[in-house]
Amino acid sequence: MTDPDRATGIAADAPQYNATLVKRVDESPSLAYFFIKLDGDATPYEPGQYMTIGVVENGKMVQRPYSVASDPGTAGADGYEMYIRLVQGGQFTPLLWELPVGHRMRMIGPKGKFVLDPDDDRTHIFISSGTGNAPFVAMMRKLLREGRPRKAVFLNGVSYVQDIGYRPLLEGWQASGEYPVTFIPSVSRPNAAENAGWTGRWGRVESIVGPVCEELGLTPDNAIAYICGNPDMILSAEQTLLGRGFPEAQVKKELYWPQGKEPKGRG
Ligand SMILES: Cc1cc2nc3c(=O)[nH]c(=O)nc-3n(C[C@H](O)[C@H](O)[C@H](O)COP(=O)(O)OP(=O)(O)OC[C@H]3O[C@@H](n4cnc5c(N)ncnc54)[C@H](O)[C@@H]3O)c2cc1C
Repeated sequence: MTDPDRATGIAADAPQYNATLVKRVDESPSLAYFFIKLDGDATPYEPGQYMTIGVVENGKMVQRPYSVASDPGTAGADGYEMYIRLVQGGQFTPLLWELPVGHRMRMIGPKGKFVLDPDDDRTHIFISSGTGNAPFVAMMRKLLREGRPRKAVFLNGVSYVQDIGYRPLLEGWQASGEYPVTFIPSVSRPNAAENAGWTGRWGRVESIVGPVCEELGLTPDNAIAYICGNPDMILSAEQTLLGRGFPEAQVKKELYWPQGKEPKGRG
């Protein structure tokens, strides 16, 4: 192992490293898209699955799972795309934010069962908070490439307008009709100066699930729901859907952390 960077403690190289950070695009000060390329061929995965990425810090591997946002068809050439929030006081994300493009790291996977039912042509209600939109972007990109997009209603809840991830992509698909999606971002802080001028929906995403189902006529007969992100949001949105008659098997969930768990803090 080479010497760790003195300022960060992150090892520049390590025997466990098998991938490279090849690109990073910042969406806001605390949100960014990271592209990580495996040394060899890309490992096949299903959209909705996640990879675990990590670096060695002061001799110890620090790693976390992230949903892949890329179409499996492009992950080999462009790297696996991940949409990640910087968690203040978190153990891994502050390290990730320190990495320059070209830095070596570890990536293993795929894992996870949060994948599309193969042949369900009902409207897909994708419900997400923050970066929970990532697996749905992967699902839609693959379906589009295969020429069989499924009608989707895409809800994404954020605190600030600037945090709406994949906004140009989703608004573009909706405007052109290239993908039959109704994109409904919702912003939860009406009094924040950053949100001045927002003309879309207000409120936490779980609060708009019922109204959106009502307005768009989404029922257990014509729709299936996938929910991803913050556990409190997921359980609340699920309750709304179950209350509207959706059977449990028709509400798929991916929790980004266990309910009630706060960042552990560093050091
Ligand atoms: C299957 C799976 C897929 C995931 N995919 C993504 C993804 O695509 N993008 C992503 O940003 N995160 C994702 N996560 C969360 C990610 O694994 C880490 O938990 C997160 O990046 C925080 O790591 P950390 O070490 O900095 O914080 P830690 O020290 O591990 O602290 C964890 C705590 O931080 C908070 N937290 C964790 N994730 C978030 C978040 N996204 N937004 C706000 N608060 C959070 C929670 O309170 C959590 O208990 C996923 C988690 C799982 C289980």
